[in-house]
Amino acid sequence: QTLQDTLLSAIRTIPDYPKPGILFRDITTLLGDARAFRRAVDELVQPYAGAKIDKIAGIEARGFILGGAIAHQLSSGFIPIRKKGKLPHDTVRVAYSLEYGIDEMEMHRDAVQPGEKVILVDDLIATGGTAEGAVKLLGQMGTEIVAACFVIDLPDLGGRARLEALGVDVHTLIAFE
Ligand code: 5GP
Repeated sequence: QTLQDTLLSAIRTIPDYPKPGILFRDITTLLGDARAFRRAVDELVQPYAGAKIDKIAGIEARGFILGGAIAHQLSSGFIPIRKKGKLPHDTVRVAYSLEYGIDEMEMHRDAVQPGEKVILVDDLIATGGTAEGAVKLLGQMGTEIVAACFVIDLPDLGGRARLEALGVDVHTLIAFE
């Protein structure tokens, strides 16, 4: 089975979630499918095999699941990027744009050291607002962002182009119009 077939049959599409008119791409079915989950993680790590990646930064919450598996595979550390107020120690915080309005995300100040090589991970990139926030946080901390990886790209919403305009390499496995 091709990667595209594997992913297409494992990702579930939910119409009108969370709002009327939205087609939500649900990856819980992919995570629950042993072969598809493994395949997705293998494909995401493949370009970085043998590279020395210090940390994988996962975006709450689905980025934690994929990011943890990727960190294990690449023998990297894992750092959580979370919605504000969830991390217990000293944090750095950034505002980021949502479809409607803004929110804030943060990471522990001591989670990375300047110059460390980091890969950013989330399940899906849409407008890129969330990933751009994470890129800013990691940039503030002086890390080297090797790439941003997502299972799903929604290219019509422009997120990939937005990250690439910031000089970030973007790696995705499947695109939905
Ligand atoms: P963006 O900030 O790029 O517009 O939205 C991406 C963020 O929203 C990601 O954290 C992603 O998990 C979530 N998201 C937006 N739309 C979907 C969707 O259709 N499916 C999933 N699984 N996540 C989505």
